[in-house]
Amino acid sequence: MADSTWFYENFEHTGSAIGFRTVRKLDEVQSPFQKIEIFETTDFGNLMVIDGAMMVSTRENFFYHEMMSHAPIYTHPAPKNIVIIGGGDCGTLRECLKHADVETVVQCDIDEQVTRMAEKYFPELCESNADPRATVMFDDGIAYMQNAAPGSIDIIIVDSTDPVGPAEGLFNRAFYENCFRALRADGLLVQQSESPLALMDLIRDMIGAMSDAGFRGFRTLPFPQPCYPTGWWSCTIAAKDGRDLAAFRSADAAAKTFRTEYYNAGVHHGALAQPEFIKRALKQS
Ligand code: SAM
Repeated sequence: MADSTWFYENFEHTGSAIGFRTVRKLDEVQSPFQKIEIFETTDFGNLMVIDGAMMVSTRENFFYHEMMSHAPIYTHPAPKNIVIIGGGDCGTLRECLKHADVETVVQCDIDEQVTRMAEKYFPELCESNADPRATVMFDDGIAYMQNAAPGSIDIIIVDSTDPVGPAEGLFNRAFYENCFRALRADGLLVQQSESPLALMDLIRDMIGAMSDAGFRGFRTLPFPQPCYPTGWWSCTIAAKDGRDLAAFRSADAAAKTFRTEYYNAGVHHGALAQPEFIKRALKQS
């Protein structure tokens, strides 16, 4: 809903909403998959909205992009090949490429229009797209994973919209089985797992489907994300083997030389401290 000076997103499921004061609407496009709108806000820079749901703002996207990339990368022993499903705003791609030891990052988003709009209105998120290690492609992530070579990927990052519309098929056992097959033995799957406050059932269902697909270790890491429902978001990491995902390369994270706005070793440790209701919901000790 947009009136002359504010854009609001109502979260019917949670009976809550968030709004950003706007200066004007900058652009919109109806792609074959979704409606993409761009607003200029008074205090949060530009705002991208897809089918009425806030995706990224200039001012506060770093929480999400940094946790979706650095947390799994520092959890993996030595990631070389990463695939991002979704991620069309290119922020997660940029963060992954900050790791000099990462050799290839493929970003497969179903909708080219998202990236074209990001190039125009969020150029800072696209600043690494020309990195020779990056491949920016446009296809259904479901098909991509069906065709991925077995044992070819170290980390799969599912940076998709909510589990409705084109993204619905990225949250089920069949997709996770294809991810399981495409990952190497010490591979990790990480997926944006919505708001733990509002959608703990969805997280439990995701982990159940990942477990049915063969994954053995799971960890949900909460983090703030102002423009998403309840302002508190999460990513869930799943391991093919049964390793303890509470362990990560914290010395490497502490010694990182690239700039972040949020992520560091202490923030990672903090995200691993499971709130009581999450422990109970996921039956963790
Ligand atoms: N951070 C956002 C969130 O948590 O909602 C996600 C940002 S990113 C813009 C979401 C992307 O998922 C969109 O660009 C959309 O086109 C993409 N997407 C949705 N379904 C997809 C699919 N089946 N395959 C590949 N990309 C998909």
